[in-house]
Amino acid sequence: MSSAFQPVTPEITAQLEQIVGRAAVSTAQAERDLRARDQSFHPAHAADVIVWPQTAQQVAEVLKLANDHCIPVTPWGVGTGLEGNSIALFGGIQLSLERMDAIVEVHADDFQVTVQPGIGHKDLNAALARTGLFFPPDPGANASIGGMLANNAAGIRTVKYGASKDNVLRMQVALADGRLIDVGSRSVKQASGYDLLHLFVGSEGTLGVITEATLKLVPVPAHMSAATAAFPTVESAVEAVVAIRGSGLDPAALEFMDAAHTKMLREAEGVDLQDYPTLFMEFHTAHEEALALGIETIREICEELGAVHFRATTDTAERKQLWHARHHSYEIMVRSHPDKQFYIMDVAVPISTYPELIRYVETLKQERNRTVYLLGHAGDGNIHVEFPFADDAEYVHVKEMDSAIVLKALELGGTATGEHGVGIGKARYMAQEHGAGLDVMRAIKATLDPNGILNPGKIFADA
Ligand SMILES: Cc1cc2nc3c(=O)[nH]c(=O)nc-3n(C[C@H](O)[C@H](O)[C@H](O)COP(=O)(O)OP(=O)(O)OC[C@H]3O[C@@H](n4cnc5c(N)ncnc54)[C@H](O)[C@@H]3O)c2cc1C
Repeated sequence: MSSAFQPVTPEITAQLEQIVGRAAVSTAQAERDLRARDQSFHPAHAADVIVWPQTAQQVAEVLKLANDHCIPVTPWGVGTGLEGNSIALFGGIQLSLERMDAIVEVHADDFQVTVQPGIGHKDLNAALARTGLFFPPDPGANASIGGMLANNAAGIRTVKYGASKDNVLRMQVALADGRLIDVGSRSVKQASGYDLLHLFVGSEGTLGVITEATLKLVPVPAHMSAATAAFPTVESAVEAVVAIRGSGLDPAALEFMDAAHTKMLREAEGVDLQDYPTLFMEFHTAHEEALALGIETIREICEELGAVHFRATTDTAERKQLWHARHHSYEIMVRSHPDKQFYIMDVAVPISTYPELIRYVETLKQERNRTVYLLGHAGDGNIHVEFPFADDAEYVHVKEMDSAIVLKALELGGTATGEHGVGIGKARYMAQEHGAGLDVMRAIKATLDPNGILNPGKIFADA
């Protein structure tokens, strides 16, 4: 596939300028370098040209031009991906959706909003505040809606509200050959033909480019409470996760963090945390009494399972401080290891096997005698393992541990990635995870993108 790719010539650049305007095309080194890597450990690779379309029609025309000349196109949201998903591995065109960031229409009576793909989910929620509605998926970083849908991003609120795939009703998608299609509909119930909507969600820009999306919204909860529970061991903390999920109390967030992380957050952000493995929780209710009763039950569950400290708050400032610290845990960790790079991986398993997965990672960490940080969206059975590394030898070592953890997750009936996507790093596990299903994925790819121009090098290890 790659050998057939053609370079971006000055003639092609001129044609791109005709489609999107001169101010929306750049071959400047600085612009290309800025988008040469995402937030992952994968090495940078710059595209030959950056293009910023402003309309769906322009996206379609750029794709048609690229397809006719066999030039790779890698969509770019805002580059917060953690698996190299938006790195232009084969050069070509990096199609940045940054300038398509409008709210097209708020359908408040239907609890929906239609947006262009480049808008950040935080910016969207800020604009929606006056409606009393919000879009729940929250990956922490201010990721674009297009990038979130393309990666099926999840995050801290998925345990209650679902991932990106559960919060989208319809999309407009530009195909490699320049067709613009509508998938899904604004009806909440849909039973009409193949589910093309969810074919494109999570396809990481390898099947088409999302040019518009209608998202589901939910009312901002009337009452919210945050709670933390510290446990003497990692095992007791993750056992509590299973018990809380089984209580039927429906947490809006149920996060796990190891003791090294809580120590860093306490020191860096002044948050009231103990240096123990800790669960971070949030609860949303319509009635204050229900919130208080629910929190008391959670306290009992945690104390019964050996919690050494439990704290709950309905104070908005304190709740925000806690989540601010949780969301910035990655930056805080990176800052505390200025001489290291970070290898971050995610896997997810059925909730009943979560304690076994965590025990496995803990044992591996001790056997290999490595610094490893653990945190994750425990309520979803999702764990992030973060490895600091200094050089190639350490990288190889870390990669071996990554493999061992992925294979364990698959053995437990889980998946190689719960939310960061396949990108570059997880492509090598796709055959093992999907078996003959991977051939079906290849056939779909060949039908929609016969020249393989869309985000080549991702999802399929041999691409
Ligand atoms: C500190 C931090 C915390 C994070 N926490 C979480 C978390 O809790 N949960 C989680 O799920 N993720 C998390 N992430 C990862 C990241 O935010 C998500 O993967 C997000 O979906 C990336 O969105 P983006 O706009 O940055 O897209 P990019 O990284 O630019 O692109 C992601 C993928 O989408 C494709 N793409 C972008 N726009 C389009 C489009 N319009 N049409 C088609 N394809 C497109 C790209 O080609 C690429 O394959 C975190 C990242 C950071 C840095």
